[in-house]
Amino acid sequence: MDYRTVLDKIYKAVQPYAGLGKNADYIPSLANVNPDKFGICIVTDKNQSFEVGDAEERFSLQSITKVFALAMCLSLKGEELWKRVGKEPSGTAFNSLVQLEVEHGLPRNPFINAGALVLTDIMLTSLDNPEEKFIGFVRELCGDDTICYNTDVARSERETAYLNAAIVNLLKYHRNIECDVERVLEFYFKMCSVEMNCRELATAFLAFANRNKEFSYAGFSLTSSQVKRMNAIMQTCGFYDEAGEFSYLVGLPGKSGVGGGIAAIYPGRYSVAVWSPRLNSKGNSIMGMKALELLTTETMESIF
Ligand code: GLU
Repeated sequence: MDYRTVLDKIYKAVQPYAGLGKNADYIPSLANVNPDKFGICIVTDKNQSFEVGDAEERFSLQSITKVFALAMCLSLKGEELWKRVGKEPSGTAFNSLVQLEVEHGLPRNPFINAGALVLTDIMLTSLDNPEEKFIGFVRELCGDDTICYNTDVARSERETAYLNAAIVNLLKYHRNIECDVERVLEFYFKMCSVEMNCRELATAFLAFANRNKEFSYAGFSLTSSQVKRMNAIMQTCGFYDEAGEFSYLVGLPGKSGVGGGIAAIYPGRYSVAVWSPRLNSKGNSIMGMKALELLTTETMESIF
């Protein structure tokens, strides 16, 4: 497949969508990012990479990091994990409180905020130095020791985190959080603040696309069956309450974040990361989704 030509074509084809949507502004530091950035990078199973646009500029991963947290928690807890968090699509906003109240503090899945706050609690109770372990795991996935937390972004989010604070308190009320709620929020925002560029993010996600390679990074290992199941959860729950739309338009497992990034996987073939900060009303990157729709349409490479 001539990915270089495909990406050049996509780059031109998404230009009419530039200017639509806006940055996430509920996190003050994300509101200040240049909204007109666009980058995309594909990394193949042979470790070849192809990129266009601002693919070398780091951005805030936000909810994409929930995939890394899930991998670590699955490695730590195995099937036990599902006693504390479900694996069904939520059909509600990523920061919704409604479902959590009705379902007595059992989050629908690990990729909505409530679910990821439970993962955060599990990591805090299971690991010494969880901050170090998390960043160590992510660095090894990327093969890059310079990946780090952006503590300014984490602090900026904490200052306005009324909704996430409400979610973690509701979880605590239902006894699904063991640690101090403030500590859970602190670590959760730190994980969300990790930054990568498109090439680094695609490289990190390649580990979830390589079905037959051993998954073992910084002491955290998954079986190929667990990797397969992570793909299933990305497919059904990776795009807020637009997971169905993403499946319909793109047809790849993946995860988006409110920093405007999307990482997706074509199992056994490639991983791809795209970044454009302007979001639609559901919190997904408009140009990012369009670019991935064009990618799977143009190449006919999707899981469907
Ligand atoms: N840190 C963000 C929040 O908790 C992550 C949201 C996202 O990217 O979906 O609101």
